[in-house]
Amino acid sequence: MSTIAFIGLGNMGYPMSKNLLKAGYNVIGFDLVAENCNRLVSVGGQTAASIADAVAVADIVISMVPTGKHVRAVYEGPDGVLQHARPGTLLIDSSTIDVENSRAVSQAAEAAGFVMVDAPVSGAVPAAEAGTLVFMVGGTKEAFDRVVPTLTCMGTSLVHVGAAGCGQAMKICNNMMAGMSMVALSEALTLAERLGLDYQTVYDVVTKGSGNCWALQAYCPVPGPVPASPANRDYAAGFSMAMMLKDMLLSQSAAADVSTSTPTAASAAALYQKAVDNGYAAKDFSFIFNLVSGRTGVSNENASD
Ligand code: NAD
Repeated sequence: MSTIAFIGLGNMGYPMSKNLLKAGYNVIGFDLVAENCNRLVSVGGQTAASIADAVAVADIVISMVPTGKHVRAVYEGPDGVLQHARPGTLLIDSSTIDVENSRAVSQAAEAAGFVMVDAPVSGAVPAAEAGTLVFMVGGTKEAFDRVVPTLTCMGTSLVHVGAAGCGQAMKICNNMMAGMSMVALSEALTLAERLGLDYQTVYDVVTKGSGNCWALQAYCPVPGPVPASPANRDYAAGFSMAMMLKDMLLSQSAAADVSTSTPTAASAAALYQKAVDNGYAAKDFSFIFNLVSGRTGVSNENASD
């Protein structure tokens, strides 16, 4: 079976690499945090001392790191993938990053003779654990066909959305909607509560009604209705506030690049910014309900002030 170098073993990378192990791949992981490397070893994986060591023996490289800056360092740094991977190694970046950096790394990979796709995911930690992620793949059709067998071990929906960078464009639009939905849901739950409705009733009706959405079903921001949601464990992050702010800001800079006005997303982005500025970066993004409902003492008025 092929060997995969998995770079970035955080909230998402760890469960994704576990599913690759389960499917029979040899997985050599690398993360800057030793504890994240150790947990891969505890489930049968191996780790390397550097990116260079991990990719030197790999047939496939998968990266799952926070931002465009991290992706560029992973691929283009002196210790990085492009310097040390073997010819023919297939490169897959599943991080969520801006289109510009994604295209720049793809071009550098192509210039160095590698085939690369951007393959960001939707579905968050529960889907990463269950192997039911949605992959949005940017790259050539030939590259897409080559990555399908590997991505199938981690996801159930794989869509070839266009050329290099298009996976990121798709992901940015998707997360812009998810970020706005969570704020909309938080406002509706706050209003419902003040009008005398209880959370479970709201959940039971809305999940069958026209207000239904992923934010409610998977990440319900109030304790109770969805046992697995972060609200039931003091908002320990599945998808952190900092990550959602990153994605909302990616949407705003992408919108500016193509002269597109997105006022509702801008307002939601300002609210996530306020949450991060007030010390809630590490909380799950659904903690935004607490700002919206006034529970933190931080005003939600004029969020961009
Ligand atoms: P995370 O912070 O939990 O994990 C990222 C990991 O990358 C960290 O462990 C960090 O140490 C590691 N890292 C950073 N630079 C590195 C380097 N140079 N070499 C090796 N490791 C490095 O983040 P996450 O939640 O797993 O998210 C990762 C990416 O996936 C982000 O781009 C995020 O937007 C995207 N994403 C996250 C979710 C989610 O629900 N958490 C869902 C979809 C997409």
